[in-house]
Amino acid sequence: MVVTMFVGCGSTPTSEPAGEEPAVSDAPQKIKVGLSLPTQREERWVRDKEKMEEVAAQMGIELLVRVADANMQEQITQVEALLTQGIDVLILAPHDASAAASLVDKAKQEGVPVISYDRLITNTDKLDIYLSFDNVKVGELQGKFITEQVPEGKYIIMSGAPTDNNATLFKQGAMKYIQPLIDAGKIQVIAEQAVDNWVPENALRIVEAALAANNNEVDAILAPNDGTAGAAIQALAAQGLAGDVPITGQDAEKAAAKRIVEGTQSMTIFKDTRALGQAAIEIAIDLAEGKNVKTNGAVDNGKFDVPSVLLEPDVVTADNIREVLVNSGYITEADLK
Ligand code: BGC
Repeated sequence: MVVTMFVGCGSTPTSEPAGEEPAVSDAPQKIKVGLSLPTQREERWVRDKEKMEEVAAQMGIELLVRVADANMQEQITQVEALLTQGIDVLILAPHDASAAASLVDKAKQEGVPVISYDRLITNTDKLDIYLSFDNVKVGELQGKFITEQVPEGKYIIMSGAPTDNNATLFKQGAMKYIQPLIDAGKIQVIAEQAVDNWVPENALRIVEAALAANNNEVDAILAPNDGTAGAAIQALAAQGLAGDVPITGQDAEKAAAKRIVEGTQSMTIFKDTRALGQAAIEIAIDLAEGKNVKTNGAVDNGKFDVPSVLLEPDVVTADNIREVLVNSGYITEADLK
C-alpha cells in the first residue's frame, strides 16, 4: 500500500465537494511519527516512551506508539499496521535485530525514513539513522570496572539476548578488558552464557547453576544490565553472598540504584534515556522535513556503515550516584531509600 508522505509541515490541498465547507483547514499538517518499542519490561523502556511522548507533545507532532511484548511477530504486525496509518517517519527499537530488517525495507518502499532506536537493525542497507549510545563503550566501562575490582579469580560472564545487537557490542567491549586476563591465566571463567530475551529468571538460573557447580566459589560477575544483575544478586543472596561478589549492571534502574547504595551491586551504567528520547523526536522531525541529520559516527550493521548519533554512557558507583543520578533529576533521593 502506498502512503502519502508529507515532507515538512506544509498542508496538502484537499478537493472538496462544491458548496461545502472544506473539511480540512489550511492549518499545517501535523507530522506523524510511528514509534515501535520492543518491551516495557525494563524500566528504561518506560522512560524512553514517556520522554518521546512528552517531547512529541511539546513539538506538536503526532506520535503513534506501539509496544511489542518482546515478541518479534507482534512487532512485525504492529509496524505493518503503523505503515498503513500514514506515518512520516518510523522510530524502531527492534526486538530482533535481523528480523527487523524486513520492516525497514517495507517502510522504505513506502517512502518512510527509519531511525533504528537504541538497538541496531542489522541485515539491511536501507536504514537512515542509528540513534543510540556508544554501546561498545558501555561494555568497556563494565569490563574495565570489574577487572579493576577483581583482576584475578573466578568469573561468571553473562551477556544479553543473542537477538539484540547491543548484547554483542556490550560483550565485545567488556572482553577487551577481561580476555587478556583470561589469556594470562589470571581469570578463570566458570560460566559464560547469554541470557535469552534478557529475562532475569534466565540469569538467575545461570548464576544458581554456576554457584552450585563451584561450591559457591565465585569472585566476580559480569551482568549485562540491571535486570540480570538483580537476578544474579538474588542467587548470591540465597547463598549468603550478596555484597561479597563484585557485579556490574546497566540502565540506572531505581532498584539497581538502591542496591548500589546498599552495597549488593557494584555499579551501573547510566544511559540518559531523556537525551535519547529527545534526540529521537528531533531527528524524526528533521527527517520528515527532509533535512540533513548531524551524525557523530557510523556503525557497521553487516551491510553498511549506518550513519549514527551516539550518546555517551557514564559509570555510576556508590561514590558518584548522587552526583550523576540524583543531581540530574533522573532519580530522587527517596528512590535510594
Ligand atoms: C538496552 C539495555 C536494556 C536491554 C534489555 C538493550 O538493548 O540497550 O538498556 O537493558 O536491551 O531491554
